[in-house]
Amino acid sequence: MNATSDSVGRGRRVLVVEDNVRSRRLVRDLLELHGFDVVDVETAEAGLDAARRSLPALVLMDIQLPGMDGVAALRELRADPATRGIPAIAVTAFAMQGDEERVLDAGFDAYISKPIDVRSFPTRLQAVLEAGRP
Ligand code: MN
Repeated sequence: MNATSDSVGRGRRVLVVEDNVRSRRLVRDLLELHGFDVVDVETAEAGLDAARRSLPALVLMDIQLPGMDGVAALRELRADPATRGIPAIAVTAFAMQGDEERVLDAGFDAYISKPIDVRSFPTRLQAVLEAGRP
């Protein structure tokens, strides 16, 4: 897909950390449709490495991951001066009351629940990109 000037992504790099292959494919396709340059990885450990190397404009982080989970990974991103300013959105199937508060407390800028609402998805990303990190 071409990154047109009126797309949300505008060619900006987004890092996707997601262990489920079908979810990763869906998110990649959606992001590319909206003009993002996508880097995707399967684990938090790989995500930390990719974030430091590619310095994305945005991170979409699954919470339930093998090994280190998304909350722990986000804490590491926020502890590193090189990556602490990167906006990050938690993407998770967690639906229990209190989960949104938990991920926001961990330092995420927003929370998107699965299954992803494809219609509101670009607007949510746009809002986080525009707000930046406080
Ligand atoms: Mn997962």
